[in-house]
Amino acid sequence: MNKHEEGAIIIALQYCKIKVFNGYRSLSNSMHATLILIHEKLEEFMGFHDHVTESNLKSLLIGSSSSSVISVSRYADPFTAVSITCIGELLLSVDESVHCIIGIVLKVNTDKAWFYNGCTKCKRKVEEDGETFYCNYCAAAMSTAIPRFRLELVVIDDTVPANFTLFDREAANFLGVSAEFMMTKAEKVDDDSMQSLAEFDKFLGIPFVFKVGVKLAKWSSMPLITVQAMSIPINAMDRRK
Ligand SMILES: [Zn+2]
Repeated sequence: MNKHEEGAIIIALQYCKIKVFNGYRSLSNSMHATLILIHEKLEEFMGFHDHVTESNLKSLLIGSSSSSVISVSRYADPFTAVSITCIGELLLSVDESVHCIIGIVLKVNTDKAWFYNGCTKCKRKVEEDGETFYCNYCAAAMSTAIPRFRLELVVIDDTVPANFTLFDREAANFLGVSAEFMMTKAEKVDDDSMQSLAEFDKFLGIPFVFKVGVKLAKWSSMPLITVQAMSIPINAMDRRK
C-alpha cells in the first residue's frame, strides 16, 4: 500500500467545469463548489495508480481525446462518466442526452401540483375514476393510490435558470418525508399560506449536483429536464481535510 507514496503526484479537481474553446480545453470553477485535491491519501487516488503507469500517464496527458479525463467520486456513483455542463448549454442540448449540472434551487413551484397519485404496484400515475383509481400500465383498478412527489424546481447556475422535474425517490430521500405525509399535513392545515409546505424550503439556496435527462418537447422551445439523481448538498460534503 506504499505505492501511492511514489511516482507521479496526483492532482484531482472535484466539481469543476471543462470548457472547450477553439479546440482547447480549460477548467473553471463552478458555483464556487470546485475543490482542488493534491496528492491526498484517498482510496480513489491509490486506485488511480493501479490504472495509470508512468508510461501510459504520459500518453494520456498528451492525448487530445477525453480519455485523459478520469472521473472518480466516492459520493455519487451515478454522476461518474457524465461531464458537468451549465444550464445555458443544457437548454441547447440534443434529445435524450444526459448531463450533470451544479445548481442552486431558487424555488419549488408549488402553484402547480407537487404530487401525483401513483399505482400501488408500478408507481406510475393512475387515473381517478370516482372513488377508485385505474392504472393504464397494469390495466387494473384499485381502491387506493399512493401519493408520490413530482416537484418542479427552478434551478439556476451562473448562466440561466431552468425548470427541473424531481420525482419521488430523490425528493423523499432528501426531504426525509413522504408525499403522503406532506399531503396529510397540508389537509390538516387547510389554508393557502403554504405554511404546510415549509419542508420544501429545505431545497433553497444550497448547491446540489443534478444528473439530468433532456427531452425535447414538441409544443415548447424549452426541453423537459428530469432529474435522474441528485447529490447531497455540496456544502454538507466532507471537505476532505
Ligand atoms: Zn400500475
